[in-house]
Amino acid sequence: MPNALPTFFVSHGAPTLVTDPVPTREFLVGLGKSLPRPKAILAVSAHWDTVGPRVSSAVAPHTMYDFYGFPEELYAMTYPAPGSLELAARTADLLSRSGLPGLSAEPDARRGLDHGAWVPLTLMYPEADIPVVQLSIQTRLSSEHHLAMGQALAPLRGEGVLIVGSGNATHNLRDAFNHDMLEPPVPYAKAFADWLARHVEAGDTDPLLDYLVQGPNGPKNHPTADHYLPLLVALGAGGGAAGTPGRLLHDGYTYGVLSMAAYSWG
Ligand code: ZN
Repeated sequence: MPNALPTFFVSHGAPTLVTDPVPTREFLVGLGKSLPRPKAILAVSAHWDTVGPRVSSAVAPHTMYDFYGFPEELYAMTYPAPGSLELAARTADLLSRSGLPGLSAEPDARRGLDHGAWVPLTLMYPEADIPVVQLSIQTRLSSEHHLAMGQALAPLRGEGVLIVGSGNATHNLRDAFNHDMLEPPVPYAKAFADWLARHVEAGDTDPLLDYLVQGPNGPKNHPTADHYLPLLVALGAGGGAAGTPGRLLHDGYTYGVLSMAAYSWG
């Protein structure tokens, strides 16, 4: 696949990441500048969880404020990137042609961009001039389903589409409220994030699929699967077959328990 774009998993933290003076913010600003300009972006966000896969097909997706109790300035921000009917259709086509059970995607013309998509994209591509389509996750389905979904989408990389999974490498949100933004990592979160980095960089796909059992304090770091599964889609799309090593691009923590790690494959 000549000139295929790499795929990415980024940790988006709290919505205030867009303004917080933390290293992850600077990392995402730099990441956008470091890449060849994509034709379109397929965002796989933790914050769109559906029974079966869905793709957003709005021509002009609205900015969603799917968070509560944050500073007012966040609710005034917009990310007016256009949608892409072409990418929505191509994504749906690739998923249904994979022939795997459960892999077909319904278009959703009413869906906007949730903060899992627009927070990192505001930092990466502040001009908001690259079309964005979202693909949902399915927390009712398995790790293997999400890896397969990514594998089915791998051809997009050679078509100028940047695939970005957006979640959090660790995500005990309840515990995050007990800590300050710039606190050093707590041991249970660091143990999981270090384990994750080791297996991503070694290309050990099997333990990554079995993260709740094999990852240190798996259920404590991911009480729900939503912020982890986008990583498996990015891994599937970037690696294709099992055993493809990824790269740890960025490491860091906010609130002591949120690993802000970012990875790339391909
Ligand atoms: Zn989130």
